[in-house]
Amino acid sequence: MAISEAIETIRKTFPIDQLVLSGTAEFEKLNKSYLSLLQSELEPAAIFLPRSSDDVIKFVRIFEPFALEGDAQFAVRGAGQQPVPGCSNIANNGITLDLRFLTGIEIKNGIVSIAAGERWGPVYEQLAERGLGVTGSRSALGGIGGLALAGGLSFFSSREGFICDNVINYEIVLSNGEIVNANSTENPDLFRALRGGGNNFGIVTRFDLKTFQQGPFWGGSVFYFPASFPSQIQSLCDELKKPDACEETHIMVSQGFSHVFAALGGHFCMNQLYNTRDEEKPAVLEPFVNVQPQVDQMNSMRMLTLKEAANEQAQQSSDGVRCAYMNTTVKVDAATLIAASDIFTKAFQPLKALDGITCAFTLQAYPVSLLKKCDNSLGLDASNGPLMSILLLNWWKNKDDDDLVIETFKCVLEKIDEDATSRGTAHPYKYMNYAYSFQDPITSYGEDHHKKLRDASMKYDPEGLFQRGVPGGFKLF
Ligand SMILES: Cc1cc2nc3c(=O)[nH]c(=O)nc-3n(C[C@H](O)[C@H](O)[C@H](O)COP(=O)(O)OP(=O)(O)OC[C@H]3O[C@@H](n4cnc5c(N)ncnc54)[C@H](O)[C@@H]3O)c2cc1C
Repeated sequence: MAISEAIETIRKTFPIDQLVLSGTAEFEKLNKSYLSLLQSELEPAAIFLPRSSDDVIKFVRIFEPFALEGDAQFAVRGAGQQPVPGCSNIANNGITLDLRFLTGIEIKNGIVSIAAGERWGPVYEQLAERGLGVTGSRSALGGIGGLALAGGLSFFSSREGFICDNVINYEIVLSNGEIVNANSTENPDLFRALRGGGNNFGIVTRFDLKTFQQGPFWGGSVFYFPASFPSQIQSLCDELKKPDACEETHIMVSQGFSHVFAALGGHFCMNQLYNTRDEEKPAVLEPFVNVQPQVDQMNSMRMLTLKEAANEQAQQSSDGVRCAYMNTTVKVDAATLIAASDIFTKAFQPLKALDGITCAFTLQAYPVSLLKKCDNSLGLDASNGPLMSILLLNWWKNKDDDDLVIETFKCVLEKIDEDATSRGTAHPYKYMNYAYSFQDPITSYGEDHHKKLRDASMKYDPEGLFQRGVPGGFKLF
């Protein structure tokens, strides 16, 4: 059974504007609206736009036999902000299920219920009217599913834990077309699996998350020069290792090269700093805010709302660029991180002449306070903490440079892992949201969690629709 038959059946079932066929202007517009061109360059045979969870149920029921008995496949797209090619788009033997019209935000009894097609920006806006906040993407443009199914770091990670640990209920359409809730009492094994299991179990139509009182907080960015980077790493490690490390701070420390900073030589260092209490200039951030020398006119530290902070982060990226994210994890150890930074710096030198190149080495912590709150599938616990995520972010212009850029930074990660292993500071965890195709985050959760995820798949998707029929993303088998 071919994709053309599946399309024909879907066309007869839904209003004409819900199935957008390849080759039309509308298709071009939708298919170009991914963060990464590497995703947009895949062209599905059609894009299906459900308007309700009933539409998702009907779609799954229609499509299941075409995927299981034929070779038709589909992709599930939230906001399309994850750059791994094919994680939320598919080639022309498939249909992309684009959730953008599944909208709606409801706030009741301290819980925010978010339909799967929303982005975090509007959620923050509605919560702000009630003086509330939630753990969500630091970017207003991020989709809900990508973060709440993968783990998810937010401005509040140190205090509140991973985003997935703040989800109290997932409403999900399973492979048999049934819609169920997964929470601590209903389908608890599925609930746990979804906390880190990605798109392996079904199509989540609604996410219910805990909220908390949240006012404006202190945050922004500071730009400075490479000579200070090792001391910034040292300060970050010192802070994280304190027994009373502050649970209100969220610190990202980056260095890299960008054509955007050509006037300054291209090599930049940046701290993105947040302290989520209502307090100006908190002492805990001083070593990171007052680094000298710095580019004074680029210092944006100020009091800001969650929405303003998320809008500022969103401005740092734009859709339709060639980009690749990849990551590894090490224990918090300044010598390991300085060595990793040096490996990265050496590797980007030959790439400086590439058109539109930006490459960044970003450190984001998994503090002990966050690890203690883990009740998910990620395989992390506080006993090895604090941990540090090393994230490599790369943007470039020309398709001809794809292999060079990706191979260069794949080698950087391998060298960093080797070096950390030799120091006894390596950690296997790979964060799904920032993993590239050559990485295997699910295996990195450890055997026990991997087995539980497979068991949940065999129970809730016994025919393997979300393994064989939805090939994108990181699979269990
Ligand atoms: C500027 C910027 C800032 C970022 N900030 C953060 C941050 O603060 N914290 C963080 O952790 N990450 C962050 N990221 C990473 C980003 O959140 C991830 O790439 C995330 O996966 C994007 O979610 P999405 O729904 O838009 O992605 P998509 O590309 O639409 O989907 C990602 C994956 O999730 C699956 N999926 C999405 N929705 C559903 C659903 N409803 N049901 C089943 N499967 C689904 C898709 O099939 C796909 O495999 C950032 C990225 C950018 C570009």
